Amino acid sequence: MSMKTICAIATAQGGAVGIVRVSGSEAINIVNRIFSKDISSAGGYTMHYGRITDIDDVIVSVCRAPRSYTGEDTVEISCHGSSYILKQILQLLVDNGCELAGPGEFTQRAFLNGKMDLSQAEAVADLIASQNAAQHRVAMQQMRGGISQKLRELRDRLLHLTSLLELELDFSDHEDLEFADRGELVEIARQISREISRLSGSFEQGNAIKNGTPVAIIGAPNVGKSTLLNALLRDDRAIVSDVQGTTRDIIEDTITIDGHLFRFIDTAGIRKTEDTIEKMGIERSLKASEKARIVILLTEPGVPFADISPLEGRHIIRIVNKTDEFSALSGVGIEQLERQLVATVRSTENSTSDSLLITNQRHKVALDLASEDICRALDSLSIGISGDLVSEDLRQCITHLSEIVGGEITPDEVLGNIFAHFCIGK
Ligand code: GDP
Repeated sequence: MSMKTICAIATAQGGAVGIVRVSGSEAINIVNRIFSKDISSAGGYTMHYGRITDIDDVIVSVCRAPRSYTGEDTVEISCHGSSYILKQILQLLVDNGCELAGPGEFTQRAFLNGKMDLSQAEAVADLIASQNAAQHRVAMQQMRGGISQKLRELRDRLLHLTSLLELELDFSDHEDLEFADRGELVEIARQISREISRLSGSFEQGNAIKNGTPVAIIGAPNVGKSTLLNALLRDDRAIVSDVQGTTRDIIEDTITIDGHLFRFIDTAGIRKTEDTIEKMGIERSLKASEKARIVILLTEPGVPFADISPLEGRHIIRIVNKTDEFSALSGVGIEQLERQLVATVRSTENSTSDSLLITNQRHKVALDLASEDICRALDSLSIGISGDLVSEDLRQCITHLSEIVGGEITPDEVLGNIFAHFCIGK
């Protein structure tokens, strides 16, 4: 399958150096036409200093297939970081036969050429987006194949279980022959099931790391929720007003405290009201708060804390605002609140920092389906249902786990969804 040679600017605007990337079977030929040196027989992993016409002095790095990021011949042109220069070079490449790359197209080719599996490709996007140590750690772990390896291991055990079942079927007429009894098979299946559940369950923590621990601020109108949010975000994204119930839109924003990412859900005040728009706001705010892991329950002197019994199970931090000890307006007590937020997250985190976490909704969905499959198999095994029916569930389970790492069978639609979220040039 011959693919077009693609090109893209790989660096963000404003840097001292900019990089244009070219990948495909014609990469070296095309760059050769616009470069002052002859690189037609340049070896892989070589760098060449020269000129791109009268546009710039550049360094050209050559990688030869298959030993490149994409698995194709790849050339990277490092030039001065002017967006004018970068665009001129890009235009020259297009004039000479390159196509502009789509989002994530280089990484998609790396996947298609077997350089990495789908979960690793997704991790590349997470790695680029990572902004703190925890996000970096989970993305790196995934990119290095942590999840892939775990899934391979699970698949091997499922295959082993299937073969034991088939043995049972093949020899079921020979009563005197010994093979693994159902009790053992159930135990193997149970272990696999536990591990799939654990992996799926790690999504809450993984997602909190990637997208921020969700925090809701809840309290009666006017107790100072918007002011508190602003104090925490240190900007004025929320609308602060003396008129009761003016914070109608749910505003979400994130901050990093001590390397931990928090995603604040600003919510309208909880109160009974006939105002329909306001009512909507309250319903939405309660709904939004369901997703919170931490609830800051805010009030002011003389006002009782709001009833948050529907939110049982969250970590609740109770604060009386507008006092000498705490004031969202003047900032007294904010730092202590921040420390409390961090301490709360730390107390809920899995203490083993190197345990495998999933951070991707797509993986979570696939794991939950796999979990259903193995549970069905487990039930069937326990009540002595015929092995071929159990095998079918096990095969389904393997299929669902395989979707995470992808392969030749991955539908274009899934690939399109994944790579559309990448930046161009990666
Ligand atoms: P919300 O309806 O709960 O979001 O409340 P707002 O944040 O809009 O605040 C309502 C009013 O209380 C505004 O006039 C704020 O300036 C005021 N306010 C908020 N925090 C404090 C505080 O710590 N001290 C005092 N004195 N006023 C505050």
